[in-house]
Amino acid sequence: MRLIDLHCDTIWMLTREEGANLRNNCFCVDIEKLKSVGSMAQFFACFIYLNEIASEERWEIGYQLALDMIKRGKVEFATCSDEISLALSYDDMVTNYAKGKLSAFLTVEEGGILNGDLNRLQTLYDEGIRLITPTWNHENCIGYPNSKDEAFMQKGLKLFGIEVVEKMNQLGMIIDVSHLSDGGFWDVLTYSKKPVVASHSNARSLCSHPRNLSDEMIKALADKGGIAGVNFYPYFINKAGKATAEDIAEHVMHMYKVGGEDFIAVGTDFDGFDEGELEIAHMGEIGKLYEAVKRRGLSERQMEKFWSGNAMRVINEVLSTHCG
Ligand SMILES: [Zn+2]
Repeated sequence: MRLIDLHCDTIWMLTREEGANLRNNCFCVDIEKLKSVGSMAQFFACFIYLNEIASEERWEIGYQLALDMIKRGKVEFATCSDEISLALSYDDMVTNYAKGKLSAFLTVEEGGILNGDLNRLQTLYDEGIRLITPTWNHENCIGYPNSKDEAFMQKGLKLFGIEVVEKMNQLGMIIDVSHLSDGGFWDVLTYSKKPVVASHSNARSLCSHPRNLSDEMIKALADKGGIAGVNFYPYFINKAGKATAEDIAEHVMHMYKVGGEDFIAVGTDFDGFDEGELEIAHMGEIGKLYEAVKRRGLSERQMEKFWSGNAMRVINEVLSTHCG
């Protein structure tokens, strides 16, 4: 069954290992593994690892790194152009699929690289970015990240952050609330006129981590037509950091019960973590999750929505705007 994964960090990994490529690698995601599981589209994050950029110039350096990663992604897609193409819209994805090709969507995970300049949003759009995660785990020009500190967690978007939300709506870019503070999450829901995604987040009531979504947040996101991609990072699944396919399925079922069948999606976070124990070793084994969820009683139609249909709907609603 066709699959859409809303988040992986594989392009970032490619930039860290000499000689690695997207067709076939030892990471969790490559084209061969994606093809083996019937992938329709993969969202590839240009992830800025701020922990490694200590200088005051971090946002400028990060912006250049993002542009380099976009270039790298395009080179990889061009090398395998019979199998994968960059998608800029819903129509691109459908066309690629009809040609038997995978679609690659490019995203930026760390909106701080805008560094207060809305024009950069236009540049990133022109370069092919179609989703932005406003924060990673640091405060930036847009807002504040998730935190165990309750007062900090309530901090909302900054004024520039509100402008970013409005401009992303206007351009036709998906806003991703994963990593944001709860205050930022609620502000995005208030200001966005389009559905919003949590590309890689789980249920806080099953695993009490600030990166996960409370039931109240799940309901509100679903009410706005949004979706959440279930994240495989073991420490977002349970405290022990040991996650089987069954454990991940529990999060899916909880998000289904609270948010409904139109809410659930996949956001593996593959190649974005190396801690904990995960039964699903790489993309080629993602069928284990499909089977585990199906065994819990979802119908064919609901499985189809979970695996790709809900993501397709949001891509259609947000990325159909042709602008700029
Ligand atoms: Zn992330």
